[in-house]
Amino acid sequence: MKYNFGIDIDGVLTDEGPDENSIWQQKLNEFLDREISLKENTYDLRKAFAISDQELNDFIEQKIEDVYNSVEPVAKAKKILKQLSKAGHRLILITARGAEHRSLTEKWLKNNNIPFDELHHAKAKAPIAVKKEIDLFIDDKQENALEVASENIPVILVSKYHNNNFQGHKQITKVNNWDEIKENINLFFSKNTHSSKLS
Ligand SMILES: [Mg+2]
Repeated sequence: MKYNFGIDIDGVLTDEGPDENSIWQQKLNEFLDREISLKENTYDLRKAFAISDQELNDFIEQKIEDVYNSVEPVAKAKKILKQLSKAGHRLILITARGAEHRSLTEKWLKNNNIPFDELHHAKAKAPIAVKKEIDLFIDDKQENALEVASENIPVILVSKYHNNNFQGHKQITKVNNWDEIKENINLFFSKNTHSSKLS
């Protein structure tokens, strides 16, 4: 049995660094030239780092491509995706990045040897997860996880400061890293088929 994996990019395939000094915090520090620190555990960068709408808009406009270009991939993710791809599963990347960043994103994926079958840009991920018949979805934004889970699709939620208030859901498993993602993929396989485990 081959499965469709729905996979987020930012915070899942990218290594954003530690919660207390993420690449977002570092780049905001450089850009705003003042001490930026994590103030609130929320996905909203304005609240998380106590910056104004204007500051965020300017940062996004001038620096977002720098973040997307310079962020490192999670080494383990690459290895596991290669194994999945080799085993014939489909890797469907679903990112909230705007389509204007598509070629940069494709280049980053290629330069970092990350295999994938499809790349979709969507802020609302549940409809595309349903349309693409995703069997297992991986994201770090809890709102996405909850929306996809409400479609009865199992979700792996990657732990981040902005989802530390996650309350739990029967379709969602929260994990800390790609070792735990791998364990949960193998658990998914063992529940659903006799498909051979990832080594
Ligand atoms: Mg993400």
